[in-house]
Amino acid sequence: MPAVTADPITLPRVTPPSPAATARPVVSVTTAPRGFEGEGFPVHRAFAGVDLRVLDPFIHMDQMGEVEYAPGEPKGTPWHPHRGFETVTYMIDGQMAHSDSHGGGGLISDGDTQWMTAGAGILHIETPPEEVVLAGGLFHGLQLWVNLPKVQKLATPRYQDITGGRVALLSSPDGGALLRVIAGEVDGHAGPGSTHTPITLVHVTLAPGASLTLPWRQDFNALAYALSGRGYVGPKGRPFESGQLAVFGTGDSVTLEAAPTSDLDVFLLGGQPIREPVVAYGPFVMNTRAEIVQAFEDYQKGRLGTIPAAHSGVDASTDAATE
Ligand code: FE
Repeated sequence: MPAVTADPITLPRVTPPSPAATARPVVSVTTAPRGFEGEGFPVHRAFAGVDLRVLDPFIHMDQMGEVEYAPGEPKGTPWHPHRGFETVTYMIDGQMAHSDSHGGGGLISDGDTQWMTAGAGILHIETPPEEVVLAGGLFHGLQLWVNLPKVQKLATPRYQDITGGRVALLSSPDGGALLRVIAGEVDGHAGPGSTHTPITLVHVTLAPGASLTLPWRQDFNALAYALSGRGYVGPKGRPFESGQLAVFGTGDSVTLEAAPTSDLDVFLLGGQPIREPVVAYGPFVMNTRAEIVQAFEDYQKGRLGTIPAAHSGVDASTDAATE
């Protein structure tokens, strides 16, 4: 698992929480079912079966892969709309190209993050680049949906590319864990992602037998998703392995530990709950059913944007020449 790697011994250390800190207990561990997304790439539905009120401000998360594609196999999504939230795509292995109806887009690979505020409405497409389709290869990433509060649901769409080199790299006090802070902050170390809704995203790699206790904001929820490997989670060491989500209760620190014979890779996330009604349907996340109906109507009328000419299969220059 490359993402961004570094020797933890050389990195700044996270300060252990004070002895007075309350360890967050584990309230549930669930196993993500498998599914398919877009044109048929395999995913694990990380949040399946977990109450939205516990996930708040997060809505949905897919672990994409991990899959080793044969030549010709890599798949993406067709053009599709979104409204009312933000998508965060984190590539661990492989490459994904992205384009949207507002002119945003780019290529992300190995440790890069792409952040799209759909806000009032956007159309986008996510595809492996042509050379990757031809060659095949390893594909592994995450896509997370972060809700927007009612007052920002119709915000102006925005796009951010965060290269892997910009993440804040930290280590545990004994050097056994590597932390990549993608957004928010951990122990005063800030990551590059900037969101409307305050959140913290950290990709942690623990060496076999290593443990980590991390200060975590009391006003944020706390979730840990195991990307690979085996280990334990919470103060009582609940078993936890690849494809499982642990939900933490209240407190101000979180604990992870790798099994003695296995690495443990974890995506750790938390945010400030929005505590508003959520109606999520297909590609839209709104507050009421009427707003979902409106979103479909607006999409059908082209108010969420249109596919740029360069992608629509129409060659604008040829068109002009024949008129
Ligand atoms: Fe999408």
